[in-house]
Amino acid sequence: MPAELIDGAAIAREIRDEVARETAALVARGVRPGLAVILVGDDPASAVYVQSKGKACEEAGMHSVTIRLPASTTEPELLAHVDALNADPAIHGILVQMPLPKQIDPDVVIRRIRPDKDVDGFHPVNVGKVLIGDRDGFVPCTPAGVQELLLRSGVETKGAECVIVGRSNIVGKPMMALMVQSGRAANATVTVCHSATRDLAAHTARADILIVAAGRPRMITGAMVKPGATVIDVGINRVEDASTKSGYRLVGDVDFESARQVAARITPVPKGVGPMTIAMLLSNTLRAARQALAS
Ligand code: NAD
Repeated sequence: MPAELIDGAAIAREIRDEVARETAALVARGVRPGLAVILVGDDPASAVYVQSKGKACEEAGMHSVTIRLPASTTEPELLAHVDALNADPAIHGILVQMPLPKQIDPDVVIRRIRPDKDVDGFHPVNVGKVLIGDRDGFVPCTPAGVQELLLRSGVETKGAECVIVGRSNIVGKPMMALMVQSGRAANATVTVCHSATRDLAAHTARADILIVAAGRPRMITGAMVKPGATVIDVGINRVEDASTKSGYRLVGDVDFESARQVAARITPVPKGVGPMTIAMLLSNTLRAARQALAS
């Protein structure tokens, strides 16, 4: 029987509705959560992401600010904007859209954002908090979304063999830190595979939970999946497809058709992990506002 689909779009909708309700309650107490997004340059994909983040914020009843800067912006100029947002009490979350133009060091920018406004969870303080299991920190939105998908789909994670493919700072490593904790939707035995891993299939084939974030279109085939596994495909890759109007389509890092015949549960691409990222950004912003109110 083909795998059951984990409907990321529906689960993300559920979370966004919850966030909207909780935002309204906070507004009634006099605080409107505010998110500022800075976009430097004119990368078309980044512009689309930034626009949808702003729209999602407004839909949730949050205050949304988008700062668009030219590609020629210098590092000190960008840092001055970050400083102003750090000091602005109406802003609870700050996000600088990556990638940045070459003249700007992303690490310097990330370290400049106040950790308590770093809703992307990339500041070293938040990275450390996630590693030690301190839930006061902000978890990067994509791995947080994957964990929420597991939780809300009722996937048993305790003691499970969880194999993560990819070790990036935005997905693979924080995913590892989340799944290894002793809390709920975690408590797994975690293996992280990467580009130097020998015999990738030997690892993936023993995964009860397989999370793939490698940026390699359809690299995980059904033959590499354990029968009955839960497969979470983080990958978003554009591949050429002459049959579509745009000439391309989006595929994951998992070969959906073959993996679906073997797995028990699987996320599609699109409408799997993708919509969860924005939902978790809203959730992080709400929490940043709550924490600001409490402090
Ligand atoms: P990245 O390029 O920073 O990292 C890719 C990782 O995959 C590396 O750690 C590398 O070691 C590993 N890798 C590459 N080839 C491999 C191989 N043959 N075997 C094993 N490991 C291999 O990527 P990223 O930023 O983590 O993104 C990964 C994918 O997830 C991309 O397709 C990206 O578009 C997607 N993504 C989606 C979302 C979302 O919102 N759904 C968010 C972030 C990233």
